Formats: sequence, structure tokens, C-alpha cells
Amino acid sequence: MSDPFMSCNFKNCKAPLTRFAWITRCSHVFCEEHGDQHFMNNATRVKCPACNEINNKETDIIKNNLNPSDLIVSCVRPEKAMEYAAYACRLWSYQMQMKRKYNTEILTQKYERLILEGTSQLQTENRDLKKYLSEIDNRLKKVNEELIRTRQKLRKYKAAYEAMCSSKQKGYFQKNTREFLKPELIFGRENNIRDDTSLKEDEYFGDSPLSFH
Ligand SMILES: [Zn+2]
Ligand SMILES: [Zn+2]
Repeated sequence: MSDPFMSCNFKNCKAPLTRFAWITRCSHVFCEEHGDQHFMNNATRVKCPACNEINNKETDIIKNNLNPSDLIVSCVRPEKAMEYAAYACRLWSYQMQMKRKYNTEILTQKYERLILEGTSQLQTENRDLKKYLSEIDNRLKKVNEELIRTRQKLRKYKAAYEAMCSSKQKGYFQKNTREFLKPELIFGRENNIRDDTSLKEDEYFGDSPLSFH
């Protein structure tokens, strides 16, 4: 059995031809199914299903055994045998060109599909990455804001502590420190901080290092 270098030229068939094939003068080949379907009728002239060229069924179309005996050309003159060989070479060359064109189209489509899929996947990953980076940025922004607030509190606390240390009069200290240490000045008006008007002096200083009692 010869290598199935040819495949049916009927649109989308592409069946490998191994045993028999319908062959036309316009260099197209067809599997038995499609050749029988188009050429086994009473018409004397038929259109080639691949290129629409009109072929005479008597002289331009033949159903061939693709594995003929060597003896098939034994009774023909050498120049006729050379003519057959030349036609066989042209047919082979044309079929190879068609095969190459078909394979190139298939590969191109495959690569285009892969590129599209790859691009789509990259876009999705890029979108997810941007979203993740945006979340990180937001968290970082909140942490920075909290850091700024904490530094402000520390500065106020430090100022109050220095004022306390430099004060020579207890009364002066109590009066002024009370102003410095107002909770809303140090901690801001947060939910868990009570209004200073409701606090007694002891509650301001308690047992903290700032207590002057
Ligand atoms: Zn076919
Ligand atoms: Zn044709």
C-alpha cells in the first residue's frame, strides 16, 4: 500500500486516499464516496466538485487503483509511459501544494486562536493584578493616615508632658495641663472617649505617670 500522500479534495472531506481515487483532468482527486456521488451518473460532461471545471467523463475522469501492478504500463510505448509519469508528477506536485496551503491555514487559525486565548488570559490576570494592587494601595493609605494621626497624638502628648515638667507651680500645672491633656486634643473625638466636661480631675490623671497627686 502506498503512503496516503493525497486526500480527498471535496470540501471539508480530506479523507486520505489509499486504495482507490477518482482523478480528474483538472488535477483534483476524490475519495470513492464523493467520486461515486458526483460522477456515477448518465451525464457525459460533469463539473469538478473542487474547481467547477467541466470534465468529459470519457476522457477526463477516471477511477484509479492507487496501488497498480508494475505491469500496468508494460504494454504502452515508452513515450506514452513518460507522458503518464509526467502527468503523475504534475498531479503529485499540485496535491502537495494544496496540502501545504491547507496545513498553513490550519496552523494559522490554530496560532491565532492560541494568541487570542493567551491575550484574553493575560488581560484577565492583568485586571486581577490591578485590582489586588489597588486594594494594597488602599490599605497602605489607611495605614499611613493612621500613622499620621498617631504622630499627632504623640506630639500633643509630648508637649503636654514637657509643659508638666517645666511647670514650677502645681496650680499652674494643673490648670494648664488640664488644657493640654483634654482627651479630644490627644485622642480626637472617638467613640470610646468621653466628653471632658463629664470627667473629674482624677479621671484625667488617675494612676498614670502624669498624676500630680
Ligand atoms: Zn471525500
Ligand atoms: Zn477540478
